[in-house]
Amino acid sequence: MLPTVELRNVTHVYVNEREAKLAVEQLSISIAPGEFVSLVGPSGCGKTTLLSIIAGLVNPTEGDVLINGDRIKGTTPYIGYMLQQDYLFPWRTIMDNACIGLELTKQLNEVTKERVLNLLDGMGLGGTEKLYPHQLSGGMRQRVALVRTLATEPELLLLDEPFSALDYQTKLQLEDLIVETLKAREKTAVLVTHDLSEAIAVSDRVIVLNRDPGSMRRSFQVPEPIRSAQPFYAREQHGFNDLFHEVWKELEASDRKVRGRNNA
Ligand code: ADP
Ligand code: MG
Repeated sequence: MLPTVELRNVTHVYVNEREAKLAVEQLSISIAPGEFVSLVGPSGCGKTTLLSIIAGLVNPTEGDVLINGDRIKGTTPYIGYMLQQDYLFPWRTIMDNACIGLELTKQLNEVTKERVLNLLDGMGLGGTEKLYPHQLSGGMRQRVALVRTLATEPELLLLDEPFSALDYQTKLQLEDLIVETLKAREKTAVLVTHDLSEAIAVSDRVIVLNRDPGSMRRSFQVPEPIRSAQPFYAREQHGFNDLFHEVWKELEASDRKVRGRNNA
């Protein structure tokens, strides 16, 4: 079976008037259909850059990006990208915000509107359709952003720290909801997070990246009992703490490498 995402020796350099910044170096990652992969690594290690490259928003300086075996040219409705901030438009109702992707891709009709209503309902947002973003809590707005991302039925979801602005309880609830929603629909997902326990609790695989430049450090397969448990309960599974410590050590080492160099 073809991988859903294949990055081959991807390197990216940001260039501006003053400097050239090597953000990602020689990174190769392959993600299977239906797989849920988390990317973790120190701030500035190129996680957002990588998601933008996969989304087709950033053209890598070198290397190949294949989606289902094809080279991508620009953005595609096949991929849904959920940014860290919810970016809901304050002047649009919740329903109109949730429908924006459908509108932009000219797919807004009675059938897709019904789909959006069902998604809102499934996320506990039934009855909020006519409200405006400022009338909702942070967790609710984040769920609207998720509905908006799912509304166009993308096969591949890219999630950039979607829970980082939320309180712990809301975050745990949303983790369960997202994993349940994506597994039920057999979607492929790439999640960026700096929360290690979240990465392990929701993913099939956790990839630790090095910083300066962003590169592959180590990949951890999450054992079956943890994978098959709901994220909330995954944290209680046997082996969770051991894996947490093992990944933590890699993360620390990936950060220390840079600090050591800066201190020298
Ligand atoms: P992360 O999401 O892991 O925090 P980013 O992908 O945002 O990392 O950034 C990786 C590196 O590239 C950082 O050093 C950052 O400062 C730099 N960078 C990101 N975006 C730009 C840009 N538009 N122009 C120049 N440098 C950038
Ligand atoms: Mg980022």
